[in-house]
Amino acid sequence: MAIIAVPQLSDNYAYLVVDDASGQCGVVDCSEAAKVLDEVKRRGLKLVAVLPTHWHFDHVGGNEDLVRAVPGLRVYGARNENGRIPAQTDEVDDGAAVRIGSLTGRVIGIPAHTNGHIAYYFPDLDAVFTGDTMFIAGCGRVFEGKAETMVASLAKLAALPDSTRVYCGHEYTVKNLEFALTLEPGNQALKDKYAWAKSERAAGRYTIPSTIGDEKRINPFLRSSSAELRASIRKIDPAVPDDPVAIFAKTRALKDKF
Ligand code: ZN
Ligand code: FE
Repeated sequence: MAIIAVPQLSDNYAYLVVDDASGQCGVVDCSEAAKVLDEVKRRGLKLVAVLPTHWHFDHVGGNEDLVRAVPGLRVYGARNENGRIPAQTDEVDDGAAVRIGSLTGRVIGIPAHTNGHIAYYFPDLDAVFTGDTMFIAGCGRVFEGKAETMVASLAKLAALPDSTRVYCGHEYTVKNLEFALTLEPGNQALKDKYAWAKSERAAGRYTIPSTIGDEKRINPFLRSSSAELRASIRKIDPAVPDDPVAIFAKTRALKDKF
């Protein structure tokens, strides 16, 4: 199995990205090193890289402990995070490559939640790690950018192949879907996903991964072109201009208070 979720804190996910050929692995977004190191050991893997999506504590809090436990470990991080990634060894920009054994991941710059937020896309695994930019049926708060920055970042992710599996930073799916349904109560894909997510959680399972194709059908932050969503937003606030950035910004503002 090439991607293994390791729950962290109350609702975060770290992910082991495994190169089966070499037994090497990387970890995306580690806040609790012990849990990650236990999983690495249990599976007989060798940890070679840390891949943080952004500088927030719940995504990098384990870095220092990982480096102490694994000498020589590479810790990547976006140059645009301006040194805020603990134990960072390698600065990367949009388009850079990261390597885990024979696997190559591509860095995609997706600012807005933070200035240097990045995704890691592994074409070989048909998978993207989206941190706090794209959640299943949601997106992160816009802390260090503007609405249009987040719209552009989400569009970059949405441009990946529909089959791409989406591994995000938090288990927020059920709440996100509840919010999405307030804006698109007639969206059948959304209703189906909500029923599925509730039953998965009730059974103690994770709702990751989603896919880019799925997100286009259910994620309100990718659906500014949905007539039902636009009508819902403009019913709540008729002053919102009927353009994608304004619709996104209002959707985000509503979710902030949901
Ligand atoms: Zn964050
Ligand atoms: Fe987070």
